Amino acid sequence: MAQKVGVVGAGQMGHGVAQVCAANGLSVAVVDIDQAALDNAADQVRLYLDRHFSKLGEAPAEASGAAALVEYSTDFSAIADCDLVVESAIENEDVKRRVFEQIAEHLNPDAWIGTNTSSISITRLATASDRPEKFIGLHFMNPVPAMKLVEVIRGLQTSEETFEKCQAFATELGKTVAIAEDFPAFIVNRILLPMINEAVYTLYEGVGSVTGIDTSMKLGANHPVGPLELADFIGLDTCLAIMQVLYNDLSDSKYRPCPLLVKYVEAGWLGRKTGRGFYDYSTDTPIPTR
Ligand code: NAD
Repeated sequence: MAQKVGVVGAGQMGHGVAQVCAANGLSVAVVDIDQAALDNAADQVRLYLDRHFSKLGEAPAEASGAAALVEYSTDFSAIADCDLVVESAIENEDVKRRVFEQIAEHLNPDAWIGTNTSSISITRLATASDRPEKFIGLHFMNPVPAMKLVEVIRGLQTSEETFEKCQAFATELGKTVAIAEDFPAFIVNRILLPMINEAVYTLYEGVGSVTGIDTSMKLGANHPVGPLELADFIGLDTCLAIMQVLYNDLSDSKYRPCPLLVKYVEAGWLGRKTGRGFYDYSTDTPIPTR
């Protein structure tokens, strides 16, 4: 359905979406307010495409050709001729609302807008766009190339055509679609984030150490990754933002973010992306911080 995809927000999710789009032959325009994030995204996209095409036994020219499909810009006019935009800016409703206003100023009126929000109401976000009926939740998983699922979430205003076209887009990227209703944090994060938050409470209350908690869940519950390692991978700011949406929008104290999670975010210890979270990533082997 889409020939050219816009990606707004060049962080780990944004560049992940750019990677799979380019690998599938789609042109991509990546926009961010931060030039350093765009430079890093360009490196990550190139790295991924080199590995991807080499694994397929293709000539290096294939990877170069795919990498050339992706442009990077701090100017929102780069998305003007896209058929679909996947918004992947930080998990903050005010920022996202402003982004949708900027998208409206530039984007072709026939194009669809998918938001990669992890938790925020699609119905509410759609009111900040100029085309609520062409607006939908497209929740990719991290890392995007490796994870097979995309949650598709309709807002109250989303049209049937948008729903069908955007499901087809996810399927064309090789993803399996799960349809979720527009409730806070949808399916995956409604279940996953309270578990991560509980792991942080377990640490906060001294029930176990970082290693004790992660080893327990890996060997005792057969999880491939411990909950604190996973929190660091997601980003502690994103984890906290999701818990705040669950807590506020469901008005239920069982979703109260752990004070230790709040403190880590206040300290700027956001996990892998800042080099420190529940683990310290300054050496080859991550070192538990508690
Ligand atoms: P990130 O912190 O890695 O990247 C966010 C990017 O947004 C940064 O590069 C930042 O410069 C950019 N940004 C901030 N304000 C902007 C603006 N006004 N215009 C354009 N760009 C702006 O975050 P992420 O992990 O990539 O998450 C992005 C979105 O994807 C969030 O909504 C998050 O909830 C969602 N998501 C995250 C995960 C995950 O595991 N981290 C998984 C699925 C979905």
